[in-house]
Amino acid sequence: MLDRPPGPYRVFSDSDVIDHLAGLQRVRDLLGGSPQDWRVRDVADGNLNAVFLVGGPAGGGVCVKQALPYVRVAGESWPLDVNRATYEAAYLSRLAPHVRGLAPELHHYDPRQFVIVMEKLEPHIILRKGLIAGERFLKAPEHVAEYVAQAAFHTSDLAVPFERKAADVALFGQNLALQRITVDLVFTDPYVEVWRNKVVAPLQAWAHALRSDIALKSAVADLRLRYLTQAQSLLHGDLHSGSVMATPDDTRVIDGEFAWVGPTGFDVGNFIAHYVMAWFAKPSHAGKRDAIAAYRDAIAGDIARFWLTFRRRFLDIWRQSDAAGDGLPSAHFSDAAGQARVEAIRRAYVEAIFRDALGYLAIKTIRRIIGYAQIADFLVIEDVNRRAVLQAGALALARALLKRPQDFPDIAALIAALPRYEGAGLDPKRAPQ
Ligand code: ADP
Ligand code: MG
Repeated sequence: MLDRPPGPYRVFSDSDVIDHLAGLQRVRDLLGGSPQDWRVRDVADGNLNAVFLVGGPAGGGVCVKQALPYVRVAGESWPLDVNRATYEAAYLSRLAPHVRGLAPELHHYDPRQFVIVMEKLEPHIILRKGLIAGERFLKAPEHVAEYVAQAAFHTSDLAVPFERKAADVALFGQNLALQRITVDLVFTDPYVEVWRNKVVAPLQAWAHALRSDIALKSAVADLRLRYLTQAQSLLHGDLHSGSVMATPDDTRVIDGEFAWVGPTGFDVGNFIAHYVMAWFAKPSHAGKRDAIAAYRDAIAGDIARFWLTFRRRFLDIWRQSDAAGDGLPSAHFSDAAGQARVEAIRRAYVEAIFRDALGYLAIKTIRRIIGYAQIADFLVIEDVNRRAVLQAGALALARALLKRPQDFPDIAALIAALPRYEGAGLDPKRAPQ
């Protein structure tokens, strides 16, 4: 039985959307004309929620996103707490001062209908679609790196008094329904046999190998525990190419409903993982052989630019900050020798994010290939056998990242490894370790 959401909640129809917006003066000004002139388009293509785009005669538009009391793609058989919208709205507000121009502007949140009204992004497309189509979004990696660096610094103990951090932990620590999804789908399911996993026949041997690899599962156990216990900064929690909308010049991070205070490397690794999977999937996307090879090199370049920009910006933001975090108060190292040590501490902090990111990259790759929610980059490849061969390469890389992290000291090592694992094949015993 589906629990009814509290109060007057109802699943919005097109006319409910119009009525709702008609009550918001700021939106009326943006859309212009009168409500009967407004056009509503249902554009939901994500897994969980209803999304509408609304345009008006003034040329402006808004995006209306409502949490449904169930998982949209699964229907009423999979109930899901509508409060996730509250955390998505809170996440947008919390980060807005730090990520201006890198996320949609929040116009209004209605906590009774669980409806977010935000800036309509147009002509932006979902970055994942661009990656599959072979379109270039040259600035996206740097823009997302800037976003993650700002969020990671300004919500951490480096920037804010512990009381402020504790408030974020208290608020986002209640985002329980979606954390349950992360804990189950990302960290648990891929390493056990459960109905939600979707393992195609050619990948059965790989799925079995991952389930029975004690060293690999130890690394996963460590990363899972750190996800739950290390309250380092406010995470997006689902930061991948499907949560980024872009034009060649403009990039926005959307869909922060999985927000959670956790290890910074989780978002960093997730974003890289989806570029890595795009790289592995690319040979079976449409396009001429030369163009595909060039596009793969471009993806590798994107990965490097994302990490190096994150690293540079995070360090610069920290160096230039006069923030009053309790994590490292400025009085602690006030003389010249102390200042030199602070720089070493900064570098070590970013290095630790990199190591975490590689682990979460691996976990995110595994869950998208043998777990429940798979990604279009691979699913557009209709020949399951061909697809599985490409996916096996990504799984082999993920296994190496978890079991031999020392082989990946820097981003160049990760990029150099991609072609080494590409031909791993369907037999995990014969694949490079
Ligand atoms: P879900 O939480 O269900 O995954 P998303 O937030 O990912 O929902 O949104 C689903 C789709 O709606 C996106 O893939 C995108 O096409 C569209 N969308 C979401 N937000 C906006 C926006 N602000 N402007 C334009 N389109 C949007
Ligand atoms: Mg979502």
